[in-house]
Amino acid sequence: MNDFEQKSYILRRTYAAIILLLAVAVVLMCGCDRFPANGGNGAAGDSGSRESAEDTGDGGSAGDRESSESKGSGVKILLDEVPEWSGKPYVVINGNVPGFSKSEIKKARTRAVRKGRRYESFTELDRLGRCGRAAAVVSRSTMPDGERGSIGMIQPSGWQLDKYDFIDNGGYLYNRCHLIGWQLTGQNDEERNLITGTRYLNVEGMLPFENMVADHVRGSGDDQSLPEGSKTSPAHVLYRVTPVFRGKELVARGVQIEAYSLEDDGEGLKFNVYCYNVQPGVTINYKNGLNELDPETLPDSAASETAPLDVPDGVTYILNNNTMRFHRTDCKGARTIREHNREWFYGTREEAVEAGYIPCGMCEP
Ligand SMILES: [Zn+2]
Repeated sequence: MNDFEQKSYILRRTYAAIILLLAVAVVLMCGCDRFPANGGNGAAGDSGSRESAEDTGDGGSAGDRESSESKGSGVKILLDEVPEWSGKPYVVINGNVPGFSKSEIKKARTRAVRKGRRYESFTELDRLGRCGRAAAVVSRSTMPDGERGSIGMIQPSGWQLDKYDFIDNGGYLYNRCHLIGWQLTGQNDEERNLITGTRYLNVEGMLPFENMVADHVRGSGDDQSLPEGSKTSPAHVLYRVTPVFRGKELVARGVQIEAYSLEDDGEGLKFNVYCYNVQPGVTINYKNGLNELDPETLPDSAASETAPLDVPDGVTYILNNNTMRFHRTDCKGARTIREHNREWFYGTREEAVEAGYIPCGMCEP
C-alpha cells in the first residue's frame, strides 16, 4: 500500500463510520418519536376523516389495523413507566408536559382556532374491537347544551355487567367510559370513543381532568359578561385521551390524558396524566373483564358492610344469579352479592357447573 492508497483507505473507513453513526442516530430519533409525540396514530384532524389512513400514509384497512397494533406497542412503553396503582386515581407523567408535537399543535391552531373548524379524531377499533387514541380541540362551541342520550347499546371490549354493593350509582363496576368526555364535545354514542372503565376510573380518575378543561374553556370571569348563550369565549384546548392496553387484553389498564391550551402555549392549562382503570375492593381480569371481590383493597366503609353471612344448614354453595358465579359458603366475595341476586345451593359442585354457574376465581370452589 503506497501513501495515496493508504490515505484513501483511511478516508473510506472514515466515511463508513460517519454513515454508520448517522444511521444509528436516525434509528434512535425514530424510536423516541414514537411516544409520547403521538406515535403517528390518531392525531387530531378533521371530523369524520379516517385519521389512521391519513397518518400512516399507506391507506387501506389492512394498513390501519397494522397501525393500531403498533400503537399498542407504543403505549406499552407508557405502562412500564407508570408505577402500580397505590391508592391514588392518577399519576402525573412526563413532568406533566403533554406529548403533542409542534406540528400537531400548529395543525390544531390553524384548523380549530384560526379557521374555526371542528377538530376531532378517533382511531378505528382494532381487530379485538378495542378503542385507540382519541383527540379533539375543545372550545365553548364544541360543548353540548342538551341532555346526554342513551349509550346502552354500545358494548365496548371486555364489557361485563357486574355489581358490587359498595359501588355507588347502582353498584355497577363498569361504566361505558367516554374517552373524550361528553361534556367536552358532545360525542355520545360513538363506539370509537367508549371503553369499559371502572366507576372509579370514570369518576375519580377522569372526571376531574375533564372538568378542568371545561372550566378553562368556559373561562373564569370574563364570560360572565357575555350575553346568554353567547359562544364567543376564545379558549381552545387540544385534548387527547389514549387507552392503554397490555398485549391482547380487552380491558384497558388505564388511560393517558393530555391537555394543552392553544391560545397561550399551555400557560393557562397543560397536563399529562395517567388514570388507573381499577376499582378499590375489586380484582379485575383485564383479559376479559371478569372480576372478583378483593378484600385486601376493599375500602374501610365497604368492609363493614360485608359481615359474614348467616348461611342455613345444608347449603353447599352460594350462587350469584347476576354474575352466574358460585362460591364456597365462607367466601368473602359472596358477602357482597345483593340479596336479590343471591341464592343458596344445596347440590354438588358438578350440579352447580351443570346449572351454568362458573366457579368464583377467589374461593375456587
Ligand atoms: Zn368466591
